Amino acid sequence: MKNYQMYIDGQWCDASDGRTTDVINPATEKAFARVPFGSVEDAGRAIKAAHNSFETGEWRNMDPAERSRILLDVLKKFQEKSQDFAALETENLGIPISQSALINVSTAQNRFEWFAKAANRVLEEPMPLFRGLAVAAPYIRREPVGVCATIVPWNAPLVLGAQGLAAALAMGNSIVIKPATIMPCSLIELLKIIDESEIPKGVVNLVTGSGSTIGEVMASHPLVDKVTFTGSTDVGKHVLSLASETLKNTTMELGGKSAVIFLDDTDVDLAVSSAIWGCFVNSGQICYATTRALVPASMYDEFVEKLVEKVKRIKVGDPQDNTTTMGPLVSEKQRATTEHYIEIGKNEGARLACGGGRPEGLGKGYFIEPTVFVDVDNSMTIAQEEIFGPVLCVIKYSGDDEAVRLANDSPFGLLGAVFSKNIERAIGIAEKLRVGNVWINELHFMSLDLPYGGIKQSGIGRERGLYGMLNEYSEIKSIQIDLGHDLSQRFWHGLIVPQ
Ligand code: NAP
Ligand code: MG
Repeated sequence: MKNYQMYIDGQWCDASDGRTTDVINPATEKAFARVPFGSVEDAGRAIKAAHNSFETGEWRNMDPAERSRILLDVLKKFQEKSQDFAALETENLGIPISQSALINVSTAQNRFEWFAKAANRVLEEPMPLFRGLAVAAPYIRREPVGVCATIVPWNAPLVLGAQGLAAALAMGNSIVIKPATIMPCSLIELLKIIDESEIPKGVVNLVTGSGSTIGEVMASHPLVDKVTFTGSTDVGKHVLSLASETLKNTTMELGGKSAVIFLDDTDVDLAVSSAIWGCFVNSGQICYATTRALVPASMYDEFVEKLVEKVKRIKVGDPQDNTTTMGPLVSEKQRATTEHYIEIGKNEGARLACGGGRPEGLGKGYFIEPTVFVDVDNSMTIAQEEIFGPVLCVIKYSGDDEAVRLANDSPFGLLGAVFSKNIERAIGIAEKLRVGNVWINELHFMSLDLPYGGIKQSGIGRERGLYGMLNEYSEIKSIQIDLGHDLSQRFWHGLIVPQ
């Protein structure tokens, strides 16, 4: 049993009331770690520590090049422990060991590196002379937002934690971060590396415990300046309302129900492999998973036949086994939710083409078969709501316009994907999709320079890229300077007090 602590004001500590919670390995259903179940008081203490460090200003006033050097130092130690991190992600999340190094660990490191390097960029923007004044040198300055409260979901804590920490720290902010209760370990391990770095004490704090208690403190505390929330749309709405009480700067990365559109010139085998990769990686527990496959009538039957044959070959099992390609769901609750939606799909009249049950021969673990519904009508619940499990909805369409209409017929607007041999045609579709991000002939991989985020009920704001760093983790200050020599001769002197 691994025993973890929280990290507040540069000290490792237990919850103020000593409470703990066990962390479960989803493949064995056994507890393998214990973490503090933080109290409201603990969250308040972490926020005050972050606030004090920000007031002291050691980190925020540091030369950005120096901040960059320190963050790159953290990265180096993080990279030295890649194997340990991959093993821990697999133990806690159930993602196969053959995938966690690439999908969880490298991605986290790449994002951390991007921001660590970007920390060293010029943050002041010169302005052209203001025409109304003869001699003036106004300028715009980027300043850190202040205390950032970052709330992370369980499905990608290392990637989202590393990204959230690096982006906030690059800009000189202080931060309090909270992993999800069921998946806290890898982020705590990353904090151990930060603890040994030159980042001043109090700048980075980590609290563990329930969202509905300490998460709410983070979303509403008057000393918090910014809330970055990644999680479900329903909780996101609640967090946004709490943060609005004190008008906090907010970034909301919420749910999705993304569609991949295969245009009729796509190779069928490519379409089948892509639909599988887009939906089933991490057992479907990815916010931008393409869980709706829009397939043209002309290739529909062949696509469905080949898809089902291939999905049946997905190797579900022990995530520690190198040959496993799909592990369990993260929790009993997540499996129950997925099974609930599978029942809804059947009752709604979608055709269950494969999966839908629990795989045979796996006694323990929150396993579920990769599931494909075909002949799905886009208005069905299973095509409208986020399931967050390995369930693919195949929807038939006729003509590009109908594909766009169906893709956009969703309360979410996180991401869309288009496959075609004709890039111009694909771009035409990409520009019509009401989403924050589009992949063309690609899935899951996205340049780190690109800002990422959702529209509609998928969120507010953008993370990653310079937009994600500057717009989300700094405030703009405009500084007006009049360099005129004779300050007594100002035109406005006589406007209020007659001369
Ligand atoms: P969740 O239930 O909304 O929880 C997310 C985080 O919020 C957890 O740390 C949770 O803590 C905390 N939380 C829960 N209730 C809270 C409250 N009342 N106030 C403040 N914080 C609270 O989401 P999840 O089940 O962990 O993650 C899956 C969801 O995340 C999916 O909807 C997925 O689409 C979304 N997601 C979106 C993106 C994106 O970039 N758009 C990326 C990844 C995931 P506890 O763990 O203690 O409940
Ligand atoms: Mg949840």
